[in-house]
Amino acid sequence: MTDAILLGPPGAGKGTQARVLCNRYGYRQIATGDLLREHRAGGTDLGKSADAYMQRGDLVPDELIVRMVERELSGDRRVLFDGFPRTIAQAEALDALLSARGRGDAAALVLEIDRSLLEERLIGRWTNPRTGRVYHEKFAPPRVAGIDDDDGGPLVQREDDRPDTVRHRLAVYEAQTRPLVDYYASSGRLAKIDAGRPIDSVSKEIREALHLAEPSTA
Ligand code: ADP
Ligand code: AMP
Repeated sequence: MTDAILLGPPGAGKGTQARVLCNRYGYRQIATGDLLREHRAGGTDLGKSADAYMQRGDLVPDELIVRMVERELSGDRRVLFDGFPRTIAQAEALDALLSARGRGDAAALVLEIDRSLLEERLIGRWTNPRTGRVYHEKFAPPRVAGIDDDDGGPLVQREDDRPDTVRHRLAVYEAQTRPLVDYYASSGRLAKIDAGRPIDSVSKEIREALHLAEPSTA
């Protein structure tokens, strides 16, 4: 069982690809952004503490994030981490948590993409807040605009997908998360994925990097 980590800037397609991997290959997704939004919606102490950071597009403090992830780490299914880790301290904590549970090192994939594509992806993103499924008004539209294909409920645009917050989140990525590329490369467990291509092409490259079987067309 090898767990996997999806790294990459906001808008690179982590959530989109995580959904494909979970549906086809039985990964269990741990998406820290989705978990935090659930805490905010539920009005928990963690949700209240995280709120201001998320609105600004800043990272929520490491100790809150690591404690939240620790509570999610149980069971035998392989896990796909989406949006975590985002700092070196989180990456070190994850290595320790996995090793304490007798799980091997997680494989890391970085979704590389030209910055010029990211703003359009984020500004056109629509999300089902009940399931976390994402759409794009141009690149991955729902069958009916504003309505989720699966549950028929409304889609929403994220508050932090406004242009000014998007630019701040990208700067935060460069300063605090990009160093993880070297962290995982130096321990020989990083694969680079060209995330600027269409969704299916990116999925194929990820599948090959993780040595997963081709899905059956039957
Ligand atoms: P992340 O989780 O990395 O922030 P998402 O998976 O939410 O990114 O994708 C951001 C937006 O870009 C969504 O609206 C999604 O539908 C769209 N998207 C994802 N992958 C691609 C792709 N390969 N080509 C075009 N649009 C994409
Ligand atoms: P995301 O849905 O991954 O784009 O995350 C949305 C927001 O949640 C980020 O801008 C951060 O404020 C917060 N967040 C999500 N994951 C983390 C993390 N691993 N570390 C710190 N903050 C996080």
